[in-house]
Amino acid sequence: MTNVFNPPARTLMGPGPSDVNPRILSALARPTIGHLDPQFVAMMDEVKSMLQYAFQTKNALTLPVSAPGSAGMEACFVNLLEPGDKAIVCQNGVFGGRMKENVERCGATAILVQDDWGKPVDPAKLAQALADNPDAKVVAFVHAETSTGVRSDAATLCKLAAENNCLSIVDAVTSVGGIEVAIDAWGADAVYSGTQKCLSCVPGISPVSFSERAIAAIKNRTTKVQSWFLDMELVMGYWGQNTQRAYHHTAPVNTLYALHESLLILEQEGLEAAWARHDLNHKALAAGLEAMGLSFVVDEEYRLPQLNVVTIPDGIDEAAIRQSLLQDYNLEIGAGLGPLAGKVWRIGLMGYACNQTNVLFCLASLEQVLR
Ligand code: PLP
Repeated sequence: MTNVFNPPARTLMGPGPSDVNPRILSALARPTIGHLDPQFVAMMDEVKSMLQYAFQTKNALTLPVSAPGSAGMEACFVNLLEPGDKAIVCQNGVFGGRMKENVERCGATAILVQDDWGKPVDPAKLAQALADNPDAKVVAFVHAETSTGVRSDAATLCKLAAENNCLSIVDAVTSVGGIEVAIDAWGADAVYSGTQKCLSCVPGISPVSFSERAIAAIKNRTTKVQSWFLDMELVMGYWGQNTQRAYHHTAPVNTLYALHESLLILEQEGLEAAWARHDLNHKALAAGLEAMGLSFVVDEEYRLPQLNVVTIPDGIDEAAIRQSLLQDYNLEIGAGLGPLAGKVWRIGLMGYACNQTNVLFCLASLEQVLR
């Protein structure tokens, strides 16, 4: 006989998902109502306006895609690119690689601008690629690279894209709620995020936002978006401004209660206060990690406070350490990905998990298992 599944109570300090605030977990348990119920529709409007706050944008086309961050990424590429288009993809980690895959699966050509893992995207290399490819339609990059813990200069990269008549696609999955994301000030055209990082919500939803320029590009398409589910013109029938909302797909009703609660928590704390909390706890964790002899992969000025990537000392069985943290301390930290696999640990301080207690707990546990 199969038993009820009761997950252990872990502290999640990896690259995501992060610990979910109990307020959000209890929001999930509220009664399910219809996805076209007038009360639910009113809640959707609040979700949209709180997302505009989190993204710092007035973009009307700002909504949560009913699927994880990868679907938000795909929504941006499939709506903006058509077969035969050219897109410049800046790659400095795992997720830039996925962007390239998306471009190619749209039947478009990807021009790669590569930087070493652990380094930010170099604006000079992007400028050169734009000069070499005046026919490019899109520039895509990851603002906060979760595989390396590096932050790229989104404002400069979006400006370069706009000056060269390109639309910008920005991955803000790990940034929203942890560091500043300012869609309107950056002039970004299509931005996607995720709920499971600094929003501390359950995984499975991807907030997205499209500028007027991006909407115009979508309206001027000569081919149909190849994905029915992610076609923004169809999704708008449900999430759009019109009062008469039409069925597109059955929205994940309770997960959207959870998102509403998490955005409310962010609004109550205030964006600036949330960024300051991430910065403060990161500095404390960094001081402790460095005192233990661990060194950061990323130069200080480009480090993400919400994702601390440190080099594993020689002679350490890194998987055994993570296993022991999980088994003995119920503490999850992340392993390295791609070329950094086996070489680094990724220690998250995201959203609800970003607090002083967790900083001290993580340092003390790591110190014990490294003895
Ligand atoms: N982009 C970045 C930077 C991420 O860190 C992730 C997930 O970790 C994704 C995209 C994909 O999001 P998801 O795993 O929710 O599909």
